[in-house]
Amino acid sequence: MAKVLLITGASRGIGAETAQLAATRGYSLCLNYLHSEEAASRLLDSLRRDGHHAIAYQANVAVEAEVDAMYRAIDDEFGRLDGLVNNAGILEQQSDLVDMTVDRWRRIFETNVTGSFLCAREAVKRMSTRLGGEGGSIVNLSSRAADLGAPHEYVDYAAAKGAVDAMTIGLAKEVGDQGIRVNAVKPGLIYTDIHADGGEAGRVDRLKTGVPMQRGGSPLEVAEAILWLLSDASSYTSASFIDVSGGR
Ligand code: NAP
Repeated sequence: MAKVLLITGASRGIGAETAQLAATRGYSLCLNYLHSEEAASRLLDSLRRDGHHAIAYQANVAVEAEVDAMYRAIDDEFGRLDGLVNNAGILEQQSDLVDMTVDRWRRIFETNVTGSFLCAREAVKRMSTRLGGEGGSIVNLSSRAADLGAPHEYVDYAAAKGAVDAMTIGLAKEVGDQGIRVNAVKPGLIYTDIHADGGEAGRVDRLKTGVPMQRGGSPLEVAEAILWLLSDASSYTSASFIDVSGGR
């Protein structure tokens, strides 16, 4: 039976690339998205054309009722869950912390932290062997920003990813005896549209000389690490972090 995987923020960037790679590795998929309906539909159509079992579901991961409804749709369509990629994430315009509003700080934490919590909680309810599930794997998208702090750019985002790191460790320890592994990937400078949201579409190229490998990374290079953590090839790996950052 095909394993079932939920990827949040699967309409573009790292999430979309992870979905494509996961499909080729035999997963059935729920592609979550928020605004990019067209992109999500295109990806869904192409996966289905290639014979993969997939659905797309619009839900704001920061809203409990929407996350609950998405998981009910997964229950109805697939009747099981084997993995979650907590990928949906946002940042806002580059800024010093001293100029940030409390509303911005809350928005960043709601999507990046509360969203990851809500999706992880519902995944555990379905995958925990203690609760009748068959186990599974959760991969959280953290960031090298959690360690570097992102000064003058997005300390709020870096702090939120630090919270994701702590949740990764704590949840891994809670559910280690329930058949669930929890890990995180920490991308560095990856070519996606997220940098344009911060006001600098060319950010990766500006900063790449500071990367020991002298280049930015591709979404596929992140997806490979995510797929390894989802797979049985990483069966004794939990509460761990993989930096995908060219050494930065
Ligand atoms: P991206 O290209 O901006 O894509 C973000 C995805 O998240 C989109 O599919 C978006 O959906 C979705 N999303 C945003 N808010 C959402 C919400 N509230 N509910 C549901 N979906 C939501 O970002 P990316 O670069 O691929 O980043 C993916 C993850 O990697 C994020 O967690 C990010 O923080 C992390 N990361 C990225 C980099 C990098 O350099 N790119 C580095 C470190 C960490 P819609 O388009 O449908 O709204």
